[in-house]
Amino acid sequence: MNNEAVPLHPAEAVDTFACCLLHPCHRSPQPRPMSDDLFDTIVSLSKQRGFIVQSSEIYGGLSATYDYGPMGVELKRNVKEKWWQSMVYQNDDIVGLDASIMMHPKTWDASGHTEAFNDPLIDDKASGNRYRADELIENYIRALREEGEEAHAEAVRERLVEALNAGEEMNDALHAIIMDEEIPAPESGAFDWTDVRQFNLMFETEMGPVDGQKVFLRPETAQGIFVNFHNAREPARLHVPFGVAQIGKAFRNEIVARQFVFRMREFEQMEMQYFVKPGTELDWYEQWKERRMKWHESLGIDPSNLRFHEHDQLSHYANAAVDIQYDFPIGWKELEGIHSRTDYDLSRHEEYSGKKMSYYDPWEEERYTPYVVETSTGLDRTLFMVLCDAYYEEEVKGDTRSVLQFHPEVAPVRAGIFPLTDKEGLPDIAREIEDDLNQHFNVRYDDRGSMGKRYRRQDEAGTPFCITVDFDTLDDQTVTVRDRDTMEQDRVAIDQLATYIFDQTANWEASA
Ligand code: ATP
Repeated sequence: MNNEAVPLHPAEAVDTFACCLLHPCHRSPQPRPMSDDLFDTIVSLSKQRGFIVQSSEIYGGLSATYDYGPMGVELKRNVKEKWWQSMVYQNDDIVGLDASIMMHPKTWDASGHTEAFNDPLIDDKASGNRYRADELIENYIRALREEGEEAHAEAVRERLVEALNAGEEMNDALHAIIMDEEIPAPESGAFDWTDVRQFNLMFETEMGPVDGQKVFLRPETAQGIFVNFHNAREPARLHVPFGVAQIGKAFRNEIVARQFVFRMREFEQMEMQYFVKPGTELDWYEQWKERRMKWHESLGIDPSNLRFHEHDQLSHYANAAVDIQYDFPIGWKELEGIHSRTDYDLSRHEEYSGKKMSYYDPWEEERYTPYVVETSTGLDRTLFMVLCDAYYEEEVKGDTRSVLQFHPEVAPVRAGIFPLTDKEGLPDIAREIEDDLNQHFNVRYDDRGSMGKRYRRQDEAGTPFCITVDFDTLDDQTVTVRDRDTMEQDRVAIDQLATYIFDQTANWEASA
């Protein structure tokens, strides 16, 4: 369809897609393209539409590191803000923290990362490509399931669980599975493997000018919270149970990093450690499981694309652990981990620092080391999920409308503002509306091209509302507001616009 052909006249200042015949105008989940296509589509639209690009692209890119463009950075800020509000502002027993990326090296001895933050690495001798041995086997199991070989898949899965729990024998046990099942290298197809060996994922650097002290870039934000247990609790005068929340960068020298922002070497985490009385941790764990699932749904995610997944292998310090998984185009994968970590971390920091990390309960008159329930989600994975879930295309009058159906609260731009023409002062009115609304949320003024083109640009950016100033505005101080999802239009008084958009946003939440 040639959108330029739409005449610029008030009577025709309508959405050229308004008569959607193929899909009735509602907000039910839209059909998505097939998974393989979806992965490529999301990667390419992320670049084209200014969401996410590979870091240092002009130099050929730096593997598994990504930059957020003008749209991506707004989406990211909005998702962070929603998480922070739900954790810190909406719970008077949770406070925030912002710890540094580099920490005293003993932190990582205490947490166990120096010794055990390893992945099992295996090399394909033919191509030189490196793989995580456990992931190779997991993908093999998935392929067996897809081919209907359920019993075989289950037998291999049981062996994998055994191998992952085999302690010092883990490498040999994983290698044996790969050999016995004759799993080929995914890229080269060769069956020519090295032994499996453990690879530590922490990035090392030196602090100080000469013969500096070896320090690590933190591989998780959680330890910043544990070491600040007293510093966060005492000034805030909190008593157990209470939580500390943090958003920040983490770094892992991942072996396999070919999955866009799903697996990065520099990424951001949103973590909350909830300190509880020993013995109550499993109740809190159940509560946080449900609350975290609801939070993901509150982003507008289709609930059928989310599920809980129990861990096959519990860390030695955990007494319960579950992942929230999302049905990514690369399969069901971890989005968030919820772990009941006992008193492992506080006790270890007490042991390594020599400082007391216990809590005195003034009502029960007893001292104990609190247990911890942790919720840990990756911000970048959350954004990947939001992009995948929001994307859809539909046929309208023989043309394709490509939409990012973001929840209005997280959409990078909440409203587009268009003067119908550049005549009779319409741009001035549109600019005034822009100045008013950008006090509340991000808006975008656009006077380029036909109305159809402007609507399409905003649909592609996921902008939920488009406001058009037309000639009627001059008489009655009203504007047209077009809804991205239904493509229906309302006439709204200019002085009611902010209220209208807030109401529609709240209703969207209710109807999503
Ligand atoms: P995986 O099994 O996928 O490697 P993990 O179990 O090691 O993940 P956690 O240590 O529990 O992950 O980290 C908490 C969250 O941080 C994860 O649920 C994920 O959302 C995010 N995360 C972890 N590693 C990465 C990464 N390399 N890139 C992007 N996000 C990550």
